[in-house]
Order: sequence, then C-alpha cells, then structure tokens
Amino acid sequence: MKYRSIAIDGPSGAGKSTLAKELAQKLGFLYVDTGAIYRTVGLSARRNGIDPSDAAAVAAMLPRLTITMGYGEDGLQHMFLDGEDVTEAIRENEISAYASKAASIPAVREFLLEMQRRAAREHNVIMDGRDIGTVVLPQADLKIFLTAAPEARAERRYRELLERGQQADFDRILQEVMERDRRDMERETAPLRQADDAVLADTTALDLKGSFQLLRDIVREKLGAGEEQA
Ligand code: C5P
Repeated sequence: MKYRSIAIDGPSGAGKSTLAKELAQKLGFLYVDTGAIYRTVGLSARRNGIDPSDAAAVAAMLPRLTITMGYGEDGLQHMFLDGEDVTEAIRENEISAYASKAASIPAVREFLLEMQRRAAREHNVIMDGRDIGTVVLPQADLKIFLTAAPEARAERRYRELLERGQQADFDRILQEVMERDRRDMERETAPLRQADDAVLADTTALDLKGSFQLLRDIVREKLGAGEEQA
C-alpha cells in the first residue's frame, strides 16, 4: 500500500513544526521534523569539539554516529544520539547555528537522506524541513512552502525564548534568523527554495490559529475533505 505524504518546507521560525505537528494529529499522520535530525548532527559536532563548518572533520565524524528517531507514547518525535535521548538538548539556541552549518555539507545531507525517505515509505507522513518537496520527497502528494517575513519570525522566536525563561535579545535573534536564511538559501546542496509545484502559505499577518486554518484549507482543497479524521 502506498502511503501519503505532505511536505512542508520553509525558513526557520515560520511555524512549520508547531503547525505540522497539529496537522499530523488531525490527519492521523506521523509528524517528521527533519530539522531535529540536522540538529542532532550539530549537537554531536559541538560535543566532539568539531567546527561545524569544517566539512572534512564533520564528514569524518559521521561513520561513528548513531542517530535514531523514535516516537514516544505521547506520539511525539524523540531524537537519540548514540542511544541517548537528546530531544531537549538539540533545542538549545546555540545548536541552531551548528545545525545549519553542518546542513550545508553534502556528506551530512547524503547521510541523513535515507532515514527521512524510509519514514515516508513506512507511514503516512507530514515531513517538515527545507528540501522535502525538492529533494527528499519530490513525489509528495502535497507540498506547502510555509513562510513569513523575517521580522515576524524573529518576534515569534523572541517570545518563545522569553516564555521558556531564557535570555533573549530581539536584534540578535533577527540577525541570526537572517543569517540562517542566507545560509539555507545560498548553499549549493539542496538549498531552501519553493518547489515549482508547492502551494505558498505566508503567515506574516496571521497568528497561530489563522495559520492553522490556512493550512487546513490547503489540505482540504488539495487532498480532499475526506482526509481529515478529526
Ligand atoms: O528546522 P530547524 O530550524 O530545527 O532546522 C535546523 C537547521 O537544519 C536549519 O537551519 C537548516 O539549516 C537545517 N535543515 C536543513 N534541511 C532540512 C531541515 C533542516 O538543511 N530538511
């Protein structure tokens, strides 16, 4: 039986993971957060004192790595690095830059490709990332490019950090967001771009509820209302 797949790509902070997770729940699909996989590689580089921009050093680290993905009773994706649950550790702000630097290395992308494709061969998935519609699942049943203005994305990130009781500086976050966008869009291998057959969803002027409604409308229109379980 062929499983169905929805690819959601876009820059960081567009709300992909929150929205994709909720949508997956509604549809009864498995949610796959591919950024978490790249973050796990980033975390490993940091723990091993490896410069994430050093392609040779990062590539040499890969064969020694065991990265696995699992789903808890809560239905949420957990990441394991050499058997250790690093789901929380990969969310540290510092790991974002490590992940994005390591993600521009072709050997890293190649190393993680099969793991992502396997998930879509074995389940109905909503997979989010940067190159899902263009590289990982070019045959996805539906592709959505989810984006928002950099200022809106930085603002969301800023609030999220404050809510978690972490230090936050808006200007610095905006700078980091723009830096990450630039790296993700300008890299040679699998750059962030909207697939030709992807539907554009811009959430700049929308709150979470509005963004979710927009995604549901797209899914309903493109995949048919019968898809929804809830
Ligand atoms: O989505 P998230 O911000 O957690 O991803 C962390 C980093 O991993 C991104 O900045 C991006 O560089 C990289 N990434 C990627 N391809 C994906 C998912 C994430 O290059 N499919």
